[in-house]
Amino acid sequence: MDETRSAERILVIAHSQEQVSRLAWQNVREAMRCARVSFDQADLASSGDLPELLQYSAVLMVTESLDRLSTGAVSALEDFVDDGGGLVVAFRARHPRLNALFGVVGSEAYIASIPPSHPSGGLRFPGRALPSFEGIHLPEADMIPHSGFDIRPVPSAEIVATATSGKPVAWRTVTGRGAVIFWNTAFLAERRARGLIIESVQAVEAVSVQPIANVAVVQIDDFPAPLGGNLSSDLMARHDMTDPGTFYARVWYPDVVRIAQRHGIGLSCFAVFNYHVERDKQLEAAPRAESFDVISEIAPAEIGLHGFDHRSLRLADWSNEAAMRTSLGAVRTAWSASGLGESPVCYVPPNNVYDAYGARCLASELPSLRVLSGSFFGDVENGQGREFGPEPWAPSLYCLPRVTAGHECSDETLFDAASQIATMGVWTHFIHPDDVADTPGPNARKIGLRNPEDRPWHSTDREGGLLGQLDAIFKAVRRLAPWLRFVSTREAADAVKAHLERSWQVGQAGADLDIRGPVGGWTRLRLNHRPWRRIETAVGCEIVHRTVAEDYTLYVLRFSAEQARLRLIDRSRLASLAAQLWRRGQTMSDRKRPSPAALTSASKSP
Ligand SMILES: [Zn+2]
Repeated sequence: MDETRSAERILVIAHSQEQVSRLAWQNVREAMRCARVSFDQADLASSGDLPELLQYSAVLMVTESLDRLSTGAVSALEDFVDDGGGLVVAFRARHPRLNALFGVVGSEAYIASIPPSHPSGGLRFPGRALPSFEGIHLPEADMIPHSGFDIRPVPSAEIVATATSGKPVAWRTVTGRGAVIFWNTAFLAERRARGLIIESVQAVEAVSVQPIANVAVVQIDDFPAPLGGNLSSDLMARHDMTDPGTFYARVWYPDVVRIAQRHGIGLSCFAVFNYHVERDKQLEAAPRAESFDVISEIAPAEIGLHGFDHRSLRLADWSNEAAMRTSLGAVRTAWSASGLGESPVCYVPPNNVYDAYGARCLASELPSLRVLSGSFFGDVENGQGREFGPEPWAPSLYCLPRVTAGHECSDETLFDAASQIATMGVWTHFIHPDDVADTPGPNARKIGLRNPEDRPWHSTDREGGLLGQLDAIFKAVRRLAPWLRFVSTREAADAVKAHLERSWQVGQAGADLDIRGPVGGWTRLRLNHRPWRRIETAVGCEIVHRTVAEDYTLYVLRFSAEQARLRLIDRSRLASLAAQLWRRGQTMSDRKRPSPAALTSASKSP
């Protein structure tokens, strides 16, 4: 073997005394844990020198304090990239000697950072450098401001991301045999941006091996349940119904199952037994609702628990601790009386909220529970903002937090789904039956509503109804990751846990890439064309999916043995001719998609 390293080994340059750097570094660290990327940290607060860079496949910077780098460290970075290493500047930063490396137009006037009010927010991905994000748009209203510097990329740079306005936000340049991506934004410190961090690293390494969990769940909160509430008279008349509970059981659920089945998606449903328990008074299930009947007729992949009533397991919501415990005890009776089968393994917290006492109470009162599926975003103290792993307040429960929600196929939902899939090959989504009822009244604001466009359930216009919108989300995710396995919530939690615990190793010996991983494991492999290579033979794994872009090939591999050997063939001698042919073929067969180069020059024009 002429080279042995772990699947990926990254050097992260951070500054522990810088507040923004600390936050960004924390986010990078969690992204790399999820993507199984090995890394070391160089802390500029303690030294301006860097360790030997040859042991790394890429360097990632998350600090503004680059002036702390020693002269030797700056030269080492330049040599590292020149020799084929990758560099990602994941947090806007500048250094007078690194303009060329960063692909920045040299100007001493670039000192100003743009005020947050500068109208150039949002994110678009015009090219294919970050494959999960191709064509995706995150609107300005849905994200923090970039707060970038007033700098421009060099004309030869490939634009990776722009603001909604077209102003470049991230660009890639090639220096010698290596590549650099520069992000002129603070956005990558956000947890929803983790997929951008991971795919940026993959875009600058020559070869990138990324293990993935490869699972997805679609969950239904509040079903089965004694559903009622208000539905518009229009909707009820259209479906010839008078009772909302009947609509949810006889129209909504069968429709959702039908389109889910069309996409090969199994659903996890989460039951509630009574919405009208008066503060700790009686704990009897409501009269049997039709949704319990329909769920025994059309079984989902799994039925989990959403609570006896819909109260959050937060002490403030209960008279005392005993009352909370009694309610969980009542679940056991209601569960078996409702004929829901084996005791629940997975729990979704009402309102995505619980406290430390509630988590511990849940684990002790209902020992069949293993998985807690709350929210990926939000306030940690409210039981939200959870990572994949043991619940910090009750480690016997495993957190499988949900990243996206709803029927409405919004840009924000597609961005968050893409980012999660790019980070670890996982998608966690949930819907509510009454999303359809959450409409704006006359002149009301749409923000935060689950049916903001007041869509009907069905529409003759394909995506005009809320059901069509859900279908559009499923289609988009299927198109993005056709290899994604839709499973029950408990299977997903087991797969994610295994993904985060299993060990992977990559070694390169001449033309062979040896990957050691678990039998049944999954990985993405990206070969950037430096030089242009592709897999000639694969032993010990199956190529499940392949994407060929202008300057890379991306594979999804499934392991059938503990060691896979991939023979890579170097096509660099034919590269020039083949690339020309490829481009010509692309133009002829795919006229709707402009070439990345065309987009690059378009978005760079003033
Ligand atoms: Zn709920």
